[in-house]
Amino acid sequence: MPPTTTTKKSTKKLADIDGELCGVCQACATVCPVNAIEVTESYLIVIPEKCTGCGVCVTVCPVGAITLIER
Ligand code: SF4
Ligand code: SF4
Repeated sequence: MPPTTTTKKSTKKLADIDGELCGVCQACATVCPVNAIEVTESYLIVIPEKCTGCGVCVTVCPVGAITLIER
């Protein structure tokens, strides 16, 4: 969602998962300190309201499917 419409202030970064690369190993969801990554049956969802842009998930992904993007 656009930054101008969010009510809560957060960091400017947001984890973005490439669904084509992601093998749903769930490593990122496990390490996320704020549980911002939700796992469904076949893909993952980053919850923007929770994600702090810390980048931990990026470092653990074995296939490089996660990047930090500008909000
Ligand atoms: S950047 Fe940090 S807070 Fe956001 S999803 Fe990844 S581990 Fe969680
Ligand atoms: S660590 Fe990478 S491959 Fe594993 S679930 Fe997360 S995004 Fe997908």
